[in-house]
Amino acid sequence: MRPLVAHIDLDALRHNYQLACRCAPESRSLAVIKANAYGHGAVACAQALESQVPAFGVACIEEALALREGGITKPIVLLEGFFDAEELPLVDRHRFWVAVHSAWQVDALLAFSPSQPIPVWLKVDSGMHRLGFELEQAACVWQRLSTAPQVADLHLMSHFATADAGDGTYFTRQMQHLQALAGALEAPLCLANSPATLAWPAAHGDWNRPGIMLYGSDPLEIASDTTRKLRPVMSLRSEIIALRELDEGEPVGYGGRWRAPRRSRIAVVAAGYGDGYDRHAADGTPVLVNGQRCAIAGKVSMDMLTVDVTDIEDAAIGSEVVLWGTASNGAVLPVDEVARYCDTISYTLLTGVLPRVPRRYQ
Ligand code: PLP
Repeated sequence: MRPLVAHIDLDALRHNYQLACRCAPESRSLAVIKANAYGHGAVACAQALESQVPAFGVACIEEALALREGGITKPIVLLEGFFDAEELPLVDRHRFWVAVHSAWQVDALLAFSPSQPIPVWLKVDSGMHRLGFELEQAACVWQRLSTAPQVADLHLMSHFATADAGDGTYFTRQMQHLQALAGALEAPLCLANSPATLAWPAAHGDWNRPGIMLYGSDPLEIASDTTRKLRPVMSLRSEIIALRELDEGEPVGYGGRWRAPRRSRIAVVAAGYGDGYDRHAADGTPVLVNGQRCAIAGKVSMDMLTVDVTDIEDAAIGSEVVLWGTASNGAVLPVDEVARYCDTISYTLLTGVLPRVPRRYQ
């Protein structure tokens, strides 16, 4: 078999979830497992967490149904609500909870006759300017929903635009809007994503919604004592499949972007952008060969990439190559660090691992 596997450490997932709970002991933390649990496999991750979490959060009904088919019985919140009123019978049958962010959703919900009231999270736009009712409309929608027989357990929900930034100016503005609204409505709140769970206790509501931190990635601009305790869940591991010696000045790969600065040894690794490894990885992007740091040399191809192993004495065909995560010798290469070299964020690297890469759970 092609030696590329995404190893998923479910103990690390549970550890990170417990860390999120310890950050916000007064809140209930639902586990955000949308986008196939950020690429880790939603059903397997949900099964691993189900005994610990009060609920899961997903982006759409297809993701929620896949969890029910996988045997998950805990509440599942559709964080963007439904995309079509025709989803409502399924919402009712499977007892999903829904966010509502638009007037048409409220109208559709109140025109529907569920077999039992549906838990609803009213999403307001406190500054993200993406989804949600404007603050001026929110009280009126809240009154409509809170008296509707179709609705149970109404919560106010919002999302932060800058909770990860060290400068809290804009975050504070969002919080002030939300506190004023929640105070007036006496509404229970669900606000905090991972960075707000970690860094902004003022945002801890009745519910929090941590996502990326569950997978071991640090969402803060500046690491904290807590984020240093996060453990990587996915380790993307491959092997060296070929080695070659190059004279000084010889180029490697498409366009010859990297040229050997001295006589060099280049390892070819079985992972490429056809697996979801980012094609924008710059020369110098770190990898671990037999647990030792070395660097990508040359453009990433569809099925392979090339690494300068001149200084790695024991590099041989079959040597382990960790693209991010934990090596067999315990060395760690954070996905956040790889993301910086790709000019992206860990979210895109993790969700971008394609189906041809088998996930192996431990
Ligand atoms: N809540 C909502 C509505 C989201 O869209 C997301 C992620 O995009 C999250 C929570 C989790 O955010 P994070 O992964 O930054 O913790």
